Amino acid sequence: MTALTLVRGDITEQSVDAVVNAANSSLLGGGGVDGAIHRRGGPDILAECRALRAGRYGEGLPTGEAVATTAGRLPARWVIHTVGPAHTEDEDRSPLLASCYRSSLRVADELDAHAVAFPAVSAGVYGWPLDEAARIAVDTVRQTPARVAEVRFVLFDPRAYDAFAARID
Ligand code: ADP
Repeated sequence: MTALTLVRGDITEQSVDAVVNAANSSLLGGGGVDGAIHRRGGPDILAECRALRAGRYGEGLPTGEAVATTAGRLPARWVIHTVGPAHTEDEDRSPLLASCYRSSLRVADELDAHAVAFPAVSAGVYGWPLDEAARIAVDTVRQTPARVAEVRFVLFDPRAYDAFAARID
């Protein structure tokens, strides 16, 4: 059984086995949590991302998928990069957002990670309404069988924290 926990704070400071990055498909860095992870983790993360782009992910990492790299200087051992869908009213992309959580948990299991920290994927620049983002995150993790012992949602801003707290309680 995977335990779900909730923390208000900065994901780059978490002492967990793996932190999940809300990356973009280029894998070459961006703003928000992605920028913070690369800034704090140092250049080794970007070097592995470039190698992935030169190899298996020549076209970028598809939305909904996940791939691991070193965590560089972060307290964690690995960063699991996943690409959330941008929110749009024209189309229901929630299956892709759920896929981010499932794929990340699968990669975490492959790494034998015990504790994994997730941000609110797609709830920043990608514009997902917080309540929806929290519902999809919590429901998907609860419904996905995994050997991961702890999934820690790390929410940066109070509104995101409240949205996740309302789902977990
Ligand atoms: P996306 O492009 O998938 O929306 P963002 O990085 O813009 O990704 O935002 C995702 C969530 O991560 C937002 O709720 C944002 O507030 C949050 N966030 C930004 N920096 C950090 C951080 N250092 N630790 C945890 N969460 C963060």
